[in-house]
Amino acid sequence: MKSDAITRPIAELAEDVRSGKLKAAELVQACLDRIEATKQYHAVLEINPQALERAHEIDRRAGQGRSDGRLLGVPFIAKDNFLTRHTHTTAASAMLKPFRAPYQATVIDKLEAEGAVMIAKANLDAFAHGSSTENSDFGPTKNPWDKTKVPGGSSGGSAAAVALAQCSFALGTDTGSSIRLPASFCGVVGVKPTYGLVSRYGVIAMGSSFDVVGPLARTVEDAALVLDVMAGRDPLDATTIERDAQTYELTDQKSNVKGLKVGVIKEYLAEGVDPEVKAAIEAQIDSLAAAGAKVSEVSLPSVGLGLACYYILVPAEISSNLARYDGVKYGHSAPAAKTLAETYDLSRNQGFGAEAKRRILTGTYVLSSGYYDAYYKQAQKVRTLLTREFKAAFERFDVLVAPNAPTVAFPLGQKAQDPLAMYLCDVMQVAVNLAGACALSLPIGLAHGLPVGLQLIGPQRGERTLLKAGAAVEGMVGRLEVAV
Ligand code: GLN
Repeated sequence: MKSDAITRPIAELAEDVRSGKLKAAELVQACLDRIEATKQYHAVLEINPQALERAHEIDRRAGQGRSDGRLLGVPFIAKDNFLTRHTHTTAASAMLKPFRAPYQATVIDKLEAEGAVMIAKANLDAFAHGSSTENSDFGPTKNPWDKTKVPGGSSGGSAAAVALAQCSFALGTDTGSSIRLPASFCGVVGVKPTYGLVSRYGVIAMGSSFDVVGPLARTVEDAALVLDVMAGRDPLDATTIERDAQTYELTDQKSNVKGLKVGVIKEYLAEGVDPEVKAAIEAQIDSLAAAGAKVSEVSLPSVGLGLACYYILVPAEISSNLARYDGVKYGHSAPAAKTLAETYDLSRNQGFGAEAKRRILTGTYVLSSGYYDAYYKQAQKVRTLLTREFKAAFERFDVLVAPNAPTVAFPLGQKAQDPLAMYLCDVMQVAVNLAGACALSLPIGLAHGLPVGLQLIGPQRGERTLLKAGAAVEGMVGRLEVAV
């Protein structure tokens, strides 16, 4: 089977598997071959050894007319911070290298219940801390458009896997940027849902008041279908919210932007944006207006504080979430430790990389007595302020637009030793997570020969309008395909 079968719309693939026109086993095998043929990009950490068998079972049942499901036989790859039954779950950290989860994430169960086949686990920045996938303890992923560039992070493996046609879609998590940034650097679609819309049960926690699960896919239509399967209340995750009664799927094929109220976030186009990236974004904004959208500028005066606020609150939550890795319960345990205190010390010292340690230290610092009021509490106030500013903007606009990042994918190694430069990549995305809003990134063209993503932002629970707007833009620009 040629790899272009993999890149067909997900709904069509599922329909063909159901009717027997296409064998799930062939589709899965084509993806596994593709993973092997493009392994130099290091998008994948581990193959699911059960994937082919599951695909054969789907085919057997389809032959008897007993297979159904909206994702029947559709191969996907999960970021390696989702707990999965038949593989390790490492979060790309030495701390969890030997770890096998005793249960599986709700979203994986939901996707499998619709017939999807999880074929592999994707690389990421260890514990999802990062913007380039270079913080993986197992080596970086490379950008499918240019092997010398980063794929973005932290879901860099997931985004690269989709761009490389190793799967039909992939799962990522987004705490501050981690779905949208790699989607934009790799030229694929990434959706960051409203906080709470998708269950995080069985997903390794980073910043619990920020983390969301979302799809990376080739088209907005594919991403919408996957989101529809995943969204909704989960009794095992008390932070989940009610989903919309209506589908998130794009049933109306001809989405257009006529009358759509679009706010261009002024602060994100003001300065520091690469001129070619800026030109691509502005050209797209002009075409939106030409196609009938009501476009005007909007100011969110506090977004400039977003990054500082994020890098106080998220490390605070990280320092609490990573406390469970103590060398006793699971994960790495230092063999040389002689006392309990040594077990804690050595296991953490050996298991955590530099970035996790940096965040644990920052987090405990901003939470400590004497500094709590000066940092943590102030940052919480800024978070409230930002949430209000977004809310006010959405009283006037259906969606907001911005770049995803000031640049396109940068060279591997360029920022790896400079944490502040790395943090700055997230400057246009973290405010969305602070406000719990929804957003997506979709490719709109190239700058310096590399993909540029447009960021569309919607209010909390605004996914249906957001996805429609995304599909309309996609219809205007077409798809970006990388030749590998
Ligand atoms: N790059 C951001 C960080 O390092 C976001 C990570 C994420 O969304 N998981 O915190």
